[in-house]
Amino acid sequence: MQTNLADFIKDTPEGREADAILRKCVHCGFCAATCPTYQLLGDELDGPRGRIYLMKQVLEGKPVTAKTQLHLDRCLTCRACETTCPSGVHYSRLLDIGRHIVEERIGRGGFESLQRKALRTVIPNPALFKPLLKLGQLARPFLPAALKSKVPPSAAAAKPWPQGSHARTMLVLEGCVQPSLSPATNAAAARVLDRLGITLIRASNAGCCGAVSLHLNAQDEALAYMRRNIDAWWPHIEQGAEAIVMTASGCATMVADYGHLLAHDPAYADKAARVSALMQDISEVIGANKEKVLALSPHASRLTPHARIAFQAPCSLQHGLKMKGQVEALLADLGFDLVPVPDSHLCCGSAGTYSILQPELSQRFLANKIRALTSESPTAILTANIGCQSHLQTATKLPVRHWIEALDEACRT
Ligand code: SF4
Ligand code: SF4
Repeated sequence: MQTNLADFIKDTPEGREADAILRKCVHCGFCAATCPTYQLLGDELDGPRGRIYLMKQVLEGKPVTAKTQLHLDRCLTCRACETTCPSGVHYSRLLDIGRHIVEERIGRGGFESLQRKALRTVIPNPALFKPLLKLGQLARPFLPAALKSKVPPSAAAAKPWPQGSHARTMLVLEGCVQPSLSPATNAAAARVLDRLGITLIRASNAGCCGAVSLHLNAQDEALAYMRRNIDAWWPHIEQGAEAIVMTASGCATMVADYGHLLAHDPAYADKAARVSALMQDISEVIGANKEKVLALSPHASRLTPHARIAFQAPCSLQHGLKMKGQVEALLADLGFDLVPVPDSHLCCGSAGTYSILQPELSQRFLANKIRALTSESPTAILTANIGCQSHLQTATKLPVRHWIEALDEACRT
C-alpha cells in the first residue's frame, strides 16, 4: 500500500513503524473472513481492512471523527486478522498507534473518560480490585441480569503452594486480577512444577503486565508497569531463574512485547529484551517436560482425567502468541478427552476491558462462544487466560478453569 504520512508523525519511531506496517498491507481482504466484528456487523469499517484504511487516513493527516473512533473502539484486538493475513501485517501494533492518535485528537466525553480512568485505576490495583470484587459477589444474587453478567461468581479456593525448594527456579507473573479471580491457577502451576523439580517464584513488587493501560491509550502508564516488573524480576534473573512463566495468555502476549515496546529506552531496552526472551507460557514448560508429567500418572503413560473437556483457545494464545492448537495437542497427548469446538478462532468477547466498554457486542460474542463450546456436551471447559475464564463463567453452569488446575488434579501425586 502506498503511504504519505503527515509531518507530525512521519519522523517519529511510531510513524516509521506504522508506515512499515501499512506498506505491507496489499488490501486483499482475506482477513475479513476471520474477523469477529466484521462477521457480526457486516460493515467494512468494522473489519481489519477498513480499520487499516481509517488509520492510514489519520496518519496521513486527514480529519479525525467520532466515527473513526467508534470503529476502532469496536475492534476486540483479538488479532485473528494477523493469523489470517498472508502478508504478515502487524495489525495490533498499528491499532495501538492509531488509537492513541485518535484519542489525542478528539478526546472522549466525560463519562467515557471517567469510566476508562476508573478501569485503569481499579483493575491493575489488587488492593482496590479485591474488595470491590468481594462486594460485587456478595450482592450478585440480588443484581439485575445485566449487572450480574459483569460479576463472576466466587472463585475456587487455591490448593496449598508447595513448600519445597529446588535448584531449578522459574518466575511466575501473579498479575493484577488473577489472584482475586482465580487464586487456584498459579498454585496449581507451582504444584505441577514442584513435582517436576522446579520452584516457582512470585516476585514481590511485580504486578499488572501493563496491558490494561496500553489498550486504554495510557502508554506512559503501561511502560511504567513494564519497568516495575522488570525491576522486580531482574534480581531473580541474575540469580538464575530459567524462565518467566505465564498462566494468563493475555499477560504473556504483553510481556512478549516488552522488548519491542521498551526498545527506545536506553535504561531498559536490554533488560526488556531479555525478559521477553525468558517469557514462556506454562504450556511450553509442561510441553518440554511432557514425559516427566506422564510419569506422574498412576498409569505411567496417560493421565486419566474424568471430564469431557471443551478447550476455549484464548485469542491471546492462538493469535497473540501464535500457539494455535498447541495446548489442545498437549492436553490430548496427556490423555485429556477433548471435544471438537467449532469456530475456535473466534473471540469470546472478553478482550481485556471490551466486555465493560462494549457490553452489547461482547454479550453477543459470549453467547456464540458458549454455544460453540457446549455443542458437543462437554462436562467442563478449560482455558488459558483469566479474562476469558471469568467472562465465560458468567454465562454457563459448567466449571470453567485454567487447564493447569485440571492437570494438577490429574497428576494425583
Ligand atoms: S491486513 Fe493482510 S489480509 Fe488484511 S487486507 Fe491487508 S494484506 Fe490482506
Ligand atoms: S483484531 Fe480482531 S476484531 Fe480487530 S480487526 Fe482484527 S480480527 Fe477484527
